Amino acid sequence: MATEPKRFKVDDGSEVLQDFLQWCDAVGVLLNKKVYVSKEETVADYGMLAKDNIAEGEVLFTIPRSALLHQGTTKVSSVLRKESSSLESSSGWVPLLLALLYEYTSSQSHWKPYLSLWSDFSKLDHPMFWSKEERDRQLRGTGIPEAVDMDLSNIHQEYTEIVLPFMVRHPDLWNPETHTLELYTHLVAFVMAYSFQEPKEEDDEEDKKASSPPLMVPMADMLNHVSNHNANLEFTPDSLRMVSVRGINKGEEVFNTYGQVANWQLLHMYGFTESYLSNSNDTADIPVSCLYKAAKQEAQCDSEQELVEERWEVLCQMMEENGTMVFSKHGCLTDSELHTALKVLCLSKEELSEFKDNEGWEEDHGEDDDSQAFSIEALSKLEVSWKRLIHEAARLTLMSYGDGETEETLVERDRELMEDEAAFDRLSSRQKRALQVRFGQKMILYRLMELTN
Ligand code: SAM
Repeated sequence: MATEPKRFKVDDGSEVLQDFLQWCDAVGVLLNKKVYVSKEETVADYGMLAKDNIAEGEVLFTIPRSALLHQGTTKVSSVLRKESSSLESSSGWVPLLLALLYEYTSSQSHWKPYLSLWSDFSKLDHPMFWSKEERDRQLRGTGIPEAVDMDLSNIHQEYTEIVLPFMVRHPDLWNPETHTLELYTHLVAFVMAYSFQEPKEEDDEEDKKASSPPLMVPMADMLNHVSNHNANLEFTPDSLRMVSVRGINKGEEVFNTYGQVANWQLLHMYGFTESYLSNSNDTADIPVSCLYKAAKQEAQCDSEQELVEERWEVLCQMMEENGTMVFSKHGCLTDSELHTALKVLCLSKEELSEFKDNEGWEEDHGEDDDSQAFSIEALSKLEVSWKRLIHEAARLTLMSYGDGETEETLVERDRELMEDEAAFDRLSSRQKRALQVRFGQKMILYRLMELTN
């Protein structure tokens, strides 16, 4: 009796993974024998594990540039290139998304063994797939509901105004009945969570502002992320390589870094969070408008109110009205913006008119002055008027997470959930992730209030 040819056994026994690994071999991906891809013992589905102890600086795998999937390598690259001006959009993602729509649904695709790893996009659980009501309820105050509303509106607009007319012009390659808005939206989430961006050369003055288009990097995107990562992707002219950035013990998971990403950004872009304590990159934003509201509350009479309005007008000419001050567990990450906002919002009447006459600061208020750092230690030593503004702005921001509750209640309610193991375990996966984002941010704001009290 004829028997099926034996496939070599891979660590989780899955055929799609085996096909992918064979494809990697065929396209020249070189995998260090000390690592393997697995679906077991990882933090989330596929991931990479160390089979042996690995030293710092070892190359874990190398991917030739020809294996990357992007607008320049896809089978539809020539039509994308020819009509590139009609594919421009604010995200810059449309060409890659059209390439993915085509390659993902083509049985002949060169990347089929790679894209078949993700046959079920319904597993993606970014907040853009939650109901609006659930997002607004669970994530109020975190900045995510607003970011998702904007994403969904941009996705709809890009699809109907750019992608759909383009597909209609090329019925031999795309078909709106297959390449639907729903598939497009899932591919946007896939690009958010799985793509890479090549870092710009430092002397790339010309297009410094335009960000590099996203790339799909097979094998590198099998790696999960933690802020305390142990590997990093390096770009060379011919290939991309994953290199260990510290020693990795046998049995440990190999973690890439997706960047210095706060929990709200991890949830928004990747659909997961780290525990608020272990994410050393966690941040909370204070809108500059809250500093203005804090200054307004301090004004005792009409003339003081008017003065605050005048200072705010000046400030809005110097920074965006909807700008934010970003705070981490270690202090402010947007020092010069915070410094400018505090200085302008605390100008006396005379200083303000001098500022206006001189169209800026006098010499002794020059650039160097703007480099003041607002570390945790420095914040507690600021002059009283500045501390009061930061304190009140942090309090107003904290209040935006709730519906009239006090700031203590807003923090304590989430703290109880965090500290009660049984109650935490009863939460759904979405509730747990939302809680990690909310609580991490609230703790940063609350600590800021304590420091500036
Ligand atoms: N685990 C992914 C898979 O099986 O396809 C491969 C990594 S992929 C680049 C990014 C996705 O992996 C994220 O959107 C998230 O779903 C998951 N992920 C990455 N790091 C994670 C972590 N520390 N905790 C939970 N999920 C993580």
